[in-house]
Amino acid sequence: MKQTGPIKGELVLVGGGHAQVALLKSLAMKPVEGLRTTLVTRDIDTPYSGMLPGFVEGTWTEADIHIDLAKLASMAGARLVHAPVTGLDAEAGRLHVNGRPPVPFDVLSVNIGGEPDVKAIPGAASHCIPVKPISNFRDRLSALTTMGHPERLAVIGGGAAGCELALALSRQWLDATGKRPRITIFARSARLVPEHPPRAARLLYECLTKAGCAVRCGHPVSHIEANRLHLDNGDAHEFDACFLVTAVAPPAWLRQTGLELDAAGFIAVKPTLQSRSHPNIFAAGDIATIVGSPRPKAGVYAVRAGPVLADNIRRFVAGRRPKPWKPQTRALAILGTADGRSVGIRGNHASHSRFWWWLKKWIDRRWMAKYTDLKMASPPAPAALPGLGKTPDSTDPAFEAMRCLGCGAKTGHETLAAAMREAAEIAVGLGADPRLMPPDGLNEDSAILPVPETGEMVQSIDVISEIISDPFQLGRIAAVHAMSDIYAANAVPVWAMAAVTLGSARVDLQQSQLAQLMAGGLVALSEAGAQLVGGHTGESEALGIGYAVTGWREGPPNIPSAGDDPVLVLTKPLGTGVVMAGHMKLAARGAWVTAAADMMARGNGLAAATLAPHRPVMTDVTGFGLARHAMNLAERCGMQGIEIDLAALPLLDGARAMLEAGHRSTLHPQNRAAVRIAGADSVAPVADILFDPQTSGGLLAALPGAVAPGIIKAFHQSGQPAAIVGRLNDVPGLTLTNQD
Ligand SMILES: Cc1cc2nc3c(=O)[nH]c(=O)nc-3n(C[C@H](O)[C@H](O)[C@H](O)COP(=O)(O)OP(=O)(O)OC[C@H]3O[C@@H](n4cnc5c(N)ncnc54)[C@H](O)[C@@H]3O)c2cc1C
Repeated sequence: MKQTGPIKGELVLVGGGHAQVALLKSLAMKPVEGLRTTLVTRDIDTPYSGMLPGFVEGTWTEADIHIDLAKLASMAGARLVHAPVTGLDAEAGRLHVNGRPPVPFDVLSVNIGGEPDVKAIPGAASHCIPVKPISNFRDRLSALTTMGHPERLAVIGGGAAGCELALALSRQWLDATGKRPRITIFARSARLVPEHPPRAARLLYECLTKAGCAVRCGHPVSHIEANRLHLDNGDAHEFDACFLVTAVAPPAWLRQTGLELDAAGFIAVKPTLQSRSHPNIFAAGDIATIVGSPRPKAGVYAVRAGPVLADNIRRFVAGRRPKPWKPQTRALAILGTADGRSVGIRGNHASHSRFWWWLKKWIDRRWMAKYTDLKMASPPAPAALPGLGKTPDSTDPAFEAMRCLGCGAKTGHETLAAAMREAAEIAVGLGADPRLMPPDGLNEDSAILPVPETGEMVQSIDVISEIISDPFQLGRIAAVHAMSDIYAANAVPVWAMAAVTLGSARVDLQQSQLAQLMAGGLVALSEAGAQLVGGHTGESEALGIGYAVTGWREGPPNIPSAGDDPVLVLTKPLGTGVVMAGHMKLAARGAWVTAAADMMARGNGLAAATLAPHRPVMTDVTGFGLARHAMNLAERCGMQGIEIDLAALPLLDGARAMLEAGHRSTLHPQNRAAVRIAGADSVAPVADILFDPQTSGGLLAALPGAVAPGIIKAFHQSGQPAAIVGRLNDVPGLTLTNQD
């Protein structure tokens, strides 16, 4: 992300709820100059829960009901940290994130919703399927139906969500098995949907009865055992599966934040959506209660809060007074009844008709379209200098409109020293070896290293640009990427020196960015047993990070001969280039992007150790793409060509889809031009993956054909992916097999 000026403030968004997506979209449309935005979210695909019953009954697909937060964040130029928040220090302005360094903020916006409180009923945590988090609910429901549709279902919670879900489950079972399940709804309240008028309860009761559901009101569930729940009146009820759709509760960690909370533990906010105790912290949706005008925990209020949240955060950052908001007291509620109709409720009116179902679908689709039909505006391609009469070469990346990155003064001494101290602390907190942490105040540009008595020293350097926006993860990837050259030389990394360029920013924001980047690197180096011994940090328009790594090896690799029938073993799936290229155009699913990032962050140490007994000739698969790297390997073995089995290639999720959609990374044309394909008039589109530049790719080893299957077995036994993807031969160029 090219910076357009110094970063002067840090806005952090926790959760991607219904209000937060509106804030992100507003920042995408009209960024705030100098404000860096970071989204920290547990889920990349955030559900629009109002459509959940429609999904369960089969009206909507999974894609229909989810918003891809990675795309929205990318469009807003926001950093994306894919991890759950576990705590917050409101006074210190620091967010605690699972498996990540603390994230500092100037302004915070919390929209994490709530979840049924599994602790409120003894046994619920082990014997119930809570409806939220929806990602878990979805997985557990599909696991349940995969085992066959059990007959006796219990639904705890007689509110709107409980009734809708019961009817949707009944519909799904009917469509799947031709038979409705025996569902019983248990409600502590005297009647169904106490939040709505009695007529609505009657209409829902009729629908439930018609669907063969039973309703038990007035007796709370006292405790739950395996396949049996008990009511406070001593009645017991058998079930095969039990769904928990009770009122949402706030997460327990909120109580240690220092924020003012309401009696139930939700964040107490003013009508401006600012915390009553901390004006720089905003909250919206189920997690917030507007003191003085509380509203039901319903998505419609979270949706309506969105534009208010965006406007008030802009006002706050600009030093202007945020505006109070009074949500309407009676919102239209439309509850799906899984029969092509819905119950529409407004005030004391309630009716059941096809119109309401049509309106609900229309409202939900229109809202979702705002956050799913996203297009990234393409900046104009740089024009050639007319007077020079040189027509730009179409493969020259300099003339690309949007260059997907695969590259001038020092950062202040105090900032650097403080950032390194913080990074070491964080890394040790995340499991790094304290003995491998850089000595305090490390900021020397040179390191005095002992020369080993035996073996050979190996050195390599690699620098990457901001391929992902999560600084900790990016730091990890940069270290893993740089160490891979060392592993590829049959060596182990021992020492490393960092090279970092950062965009200009307020000193404390610079320090936190650097600390997160370096913490990621220190964790990866420590996992590999390597020590950071120095580095250089400077400023530039774009963020860049890399490492010069020194390693040690016993001796040179074993070069196989043609007689050994050498085969190629690849240790990581392919596709980082094309997935990231698709992401830059908002075409790749966020789940593919975070999976690619997790794969890039995975070290090659274990793979190298698995291969080490054979000391094979190897390379790591990076910028030139698999084909060119494999050709280089063939040339090192004195052979003329490679044969690649397209069917054996492991691909990242989304890589094939992005190739078929025509996406290609900027370096692709040059990589394609660097390899001659033997004997083929046309090649399968998936073959283009061979020219896809990889960041932090796997190792590619050339091994005698006879030993390779045993090695693959060793990889799979240790839970590592690896595959034989081809062989070296003496047919000049690249030969493709299994193209169909
Ligand atoms: C079955 C069902 C049907 C419903 N139907 C309707 C309806 O028709 N109309 C209506 O108005 N309401 C409906 N509701 C209520 C509605 O779901 C909620 O009120 C709404 O989801 C609240 O939205 P939110 O923006 O507060 O949070 P959510 O939509 O719950 O979003 C929370 C976000 O925060 C993220 N997150 C959560 N915890 C963390 C963490 N620790 N760290 C980082 N990220 C985190 C999640 O990944 C998610 O992105 C229904 C609820 C259910 C269960």
